[in-house]
Amino acid sequence: MTLQDDERMIRVAIEAARAATDADVPVGAVVFDADGVEVSRAVNSREAMSDPTAHAEIMALREAARVYGDGWRLEGTTLAVTLEPCTMCAGALVLARVSRVVFGAWEPKTGAVGSLWDVVRDRRLTHRPQVRGGVLEDECAGILEDFFRERR
Ligand SMILES: [Zn+2]
Repeated sequence: MTLQDDERMIRVAIEAARAATDADVPVGAVVFDADGVEVSRAVNSREAMSDPTAHAEIMALREAARVYGDGWRLEGTTLAVTLEPCTMCAGALVLARVSRVVFGAWEPKTGAVGSLWDVVRDRRLTHRPQVRGGVLEDECAGILEDFFRERR
């Protein structure tokens, strides 16, 4: 996948992020198949669903597994997300066997795909997705900055 492909996918994830409720931190995630066709999209819904695990990535992976392939395996897919995944989501995407992870803004405080931890590229794992971070970083970070500014 080229950088242009990845930017296109992040733009879709940004679109997904805009569906967040006023209470939820706007993070969007989209799963694409090997041809770059959208399989599922989701937005962080932790507040809306009163569910600590309702991160955008988890919701998008669940929906993707329902409609893609013949079970829970998401081999060949790319997960695009506007913010670097946390440890839970990084673990989930490894378990789902996602082939690639593309994300927008880095999250130095909780990021688990290169910032604070690097869960997905731990050499002890047999399945290690490819990663590209910092795609349309400013735009992705801007959505979060706007959200937190309005809440102050
Ligand atoms: Zn997460």
